[in-house]
Amino acid sequence: MTKTIDQRVAEQIKNSQTFLVVSHIRPDADAGGSVLGLGLALKSAGKTVQLVLADGGEKFHYLPGWQQIVSAPTRPADMIIIVDCSGTDRVGDVLDNYGKPHLVVDHHKTNLAFGEINVVEPEQVATAAILFDHIPSWGLTINADIATCLLAGIVGDTIGFRTPNVDAELMRKAAALMDLGGDLPRIYNEELVLRSFIATRYWGAGLTRLESNQGLVWTSLTLADREEIGYPSDDDADLVNVLSAVREAKIALIFVEQPNNSVKVSWRTGPEFDVSGIAYQFGGGGHAAAAGADIEGTLADVKRRVLQETRKLLESSSH
Ligand code: 5GP
Ligand code: MN
Repeated sequence: MTKTIDQRVAEQIKNSQTFLVVSHIRPDADAGGSVLGLGLALKSAGKTVQLVLADGGEKFHYLPGWQQIVSAPTRPADMIIIVDCSGTDRVGDVLDNYGKPHLVVDHHKTNLAFGEINVVEPEQVATAAILFDHIPSWGLTINADIATCLLAGIVGDTIGFRTPNVDAELMRKAAALMDLGGDLPRIYNEELVLRSFIATRYWGAGLTRLESNQGLVWTSLTLADREEIGYPSDDDADLVNVLSAVREAKIALIFVEQPNNSVKVSWRTGPEFDVSGIAYQFGGGGHAAAAGADIEGTLADVKRRVLQETRKLLESSSH
């Protein structure tokens, strides 16, 4: 009889002692929650695990186990697992020379199935939700700490249960994670509400330049903003989620200027549009409602090209 994918994964986990669990650069809560959730489950089963995020784990200080996250692996492992990444380019350079991953777990529809075994379920709202479904059949158990990490992934990728893909089944999963010990109000506050004073001032810089034109709402954050305000990261501090709350925004975008002549672009939209294709077209990826890309060029040039293409997407639909 041929083995199911879950049986193959369970067997490989059972026969391995050392693990690498890795996710993407500029990690979001689904990346951090999935690395921690699966990593802690493996540790509870007595395995030796290196938890790897190229940008480190500081951002997940509210999740159990975050101090165990390292920015690069220091030794090889029997089993390499990549979570929430559509392709190797999203991993950064931390796995250069480590070969093909043994297992890829992801929910991006742009996933390139780049592992030996691929558990890719694009209909799922978060990689953490896939892990919730599969971890028990991989011979692992979900304790309160693991439930907290997985619930954080779901809260993050659904922006607090408000993306169009949220349904009753997902709420039952979230409830099951709460039964297991996941603290939803705390996760919600830490992930989506609380921001540092500096991050809020950084939002302010972006909001002073907010623009709106026939269904598109956008702004930019410059290297000068970051320097002047002292914001320490190269991301948008989730300002794009604030832009997507603007009623006039059919599609919201943010442009975050990067050193070395590139711009990080994020798109957000509601149920009527799919922005993953346009992100893919610019060398990035993501989901129908939330997508991103790192695009080469000056801020002015990238803004012009991206707004032009996004305008076409708006106009090509009959909405
Ligand atoms: P964000 O705009 O918050 O960075 O990301 C939104 C979604 O798009 C996430 O699911 C994220 O994984 C994906 N995404 C963001 N940037 C990139 C990118 O450069 N390449 C790919 N493949 N996906 C991206
Ligand atoms: Mn995700």
